[in-house]
Amino acid sequence: MSESKDGEVTIKEVGVIGAGHMGSGIAQAVAIAGYNVILVDVDEERTQAALATINGNMARQVSRSTITEDDMNEAIGRITITTEIDSLKIADIVVEAATEDEDIKQAIYTDVCPIMKPGAILASNTSTISITRLAAKTDRPDKFIGMHFMNPVPVMELVELIRGIATEDATYHTAKDFVKTLHKYTAVSEDFPAFIVHRIMIPMINEAIYTLYEGVGTVEAIDTAMCYGAHHPMGPLELADFIGLDVCLGIMQKLYEGLADPKYRPCPLLVKYVEAGWVGQKAGRGFYDYRDGTPVPTR
Ligand code: NAD
Repeated sequence: MSESKDGEVTIKEVGVIGAGHMGSGIAQAVAIAGYNVILVDVDEERTQAALATINGNMARQVSRSTITEDDMNEAIGRITITTEIDSLKIADIVVEAATEDEDIKQAIYTDVCPIMKPGAILASNTSTISITRLAAKTDRPDKFIGMHFMNPVPVMELVELIRGIATEDATYHTAKDFVKTLHKYTAVSEDFPAFIVHRIMIPMINEAIYTLYEGVGTVEAIDTAMCYGAHHPMGPLELADFIGLDVCLGIMQKLYEGLADPKYRPCPLLVKYVEAGWVGQKAGRGFYDYRDGTPVPTR
């Protein structure tokens, strides 16, 4: 790692903590961009599964000729999977994408900060936790930033960058340049609940659920209306099922509590679906029933 006069860091070695859904996607995007990646998880099986997923995704890219077999082999060769957090001592930036639980994230920072290089950046992929609050308990609030990748990471082109109150300019500029090298766009968000994308998208989904709840339209009518009337690639209820109704409800609750504004109250029908365990595609049932292969509206 080298640090320029104005404090910007040159990134070569990238650490990713959490080899789940997002961490594996981040490792894939970072490796294909030419960086060495150390992917750490407490669960060895998750690291193995992540590598298998990355292999599968890249093999599909090779079959579609979006990357060559050499690109794939080189990228896979740049990824190291491990359960040893000490391996992150060589990282110039560490992107934490572990379970969305503040206590787990704080415990990870307590472990990783003492072994990280003093100038290295610590980024969190959190969707809902305050960056300022997470940063405050680390040894480097000035070098801490929110780096919110979208799901699925290899496909989605945006990363929201969230500056905590103490994030210094050099950290922001390094993070911005780094994301650019991943061939993704950045949008800067202030550190408020749900940042920008979810602040707009999830209340829209909640409103679609109210529209269903109040009998204004059926599932089919609402999704057809938004696909053809607003040119959305996917209707809001289908999108809700894809994201997970439990995730949508969690974000609405954070907005409702964090901004203390009744306009963010979660629709009772959303609560009812979550209570039923009908949380969308991953459960086989949400606003659509997926169990027979072809999605059938449940209302
Ligand atoms: P996930 O459950 O798929 O993966 C989390 C991983 O973290 C698991 O493999 C788990 O073993 C690991 N982990 C837990 N404790 C750990 C520790 N102490 N050290 C190392 N690894 C540990 O979750 P995910 O969906 O990948 O989400 C990860 C983060 O990304 C969360 O902060 C979430 O809010 C954020 N995020 C998720 C999405 C999404 O759509 N899934 C989108 C954007 C951001």
